[in-house]
Amino acid sequence: MVRYISTSPFSAVNCASAVTRTLRGHDILRRVGRLSAGVLDCLFPCVCVGCGKIGDYICAHCAAHLPVLDGPLCPRCGQPQVSGILCPSCAAKVSPVSSIRSVFRFEGVVRRAVHELKYHNLRAIAPALATYLAEYARQREVVADMIVPVPLHPQRQRRRGYNQSELLARALAESLATPVFNNSLKRSGGQASQVRTKSMTERLRNVAGAFTCTDASFSDKRILLIDDVCTTGATLEACAAALRSAGASDVFGLTVAREV
Ligand SMILES: [Zn+2]
Ligand SMILES: [Zn+2]
Repeated sequence: MVRYISTSPFSAVNCASAVTRTLRGHDILRRVGRLSAGVLDCLFPCVCVGCGKIGDYICAHCAAHLPVLDGPLCPRCGQPQVSGILCPSCAAKVSPVSSIRSVFRFEGVVRRAVHELKYHNLRAIAPALATYLAEYARQREVVADMIVPVPLHPQRQRRRGYNQSELLARALAESLATPVFNNSLKRSGGQASQVRTKSMTERLRNVAGAFTCTDASFSDKRILLIDDVCTTGATLEACAAALRSAGASDVFGLTVAREV
């Protein structure tokens, strides 16, 4: 199991984290690689990203209070919509994605968990988050032939060292026993952070045409498209457009969290 040294102020292993705060995860793993699992359990236990309790990345108490995104939602983009019918934006266009859904609101413990996964090298939390994706997909009977993660721009992935959406997709694929296709959907543009591009128009412009897919194996396939966070849906729509152009018959977007 991959170990993580929390830099969170909630960490109970202050001694260990003080020593390792300036080290990145892979440095730590290399240095402790020869230690037994038992020793690692003692030195670097999993710490809840919500409350700091030792044992799990999201403890049972915090898990019971996660900000579930309940309906009514726009059936297309998943934005909370009192009427439960298509929102004005979706009603005004044809979308390549049949539906976008998110398990949680992007707030509280979920926001912290995604930030740790994305920015603090806590790759080991991906399976825990993917468990919620799998539960959601099973409960809603989402049927897919393939799972595809939203790719990062190659430069960003080189800097980060991994794609958090790929980690989520791989864990989900294992749980659903569905193949994951990671290298077929390519990202060539849209490098400007979506965090800094606020409006839907800006976001669409930022990612429009940023993705391409020419893999013939996508023909007539139902795709489950995975990302960590959905803000406006622009990235998922751009990915879905590329997957559709490769022949996909349906694209369902699923993310851990959504900005609402
Ligand atoms: Zn907790
Ligand atoms: Zn909508």
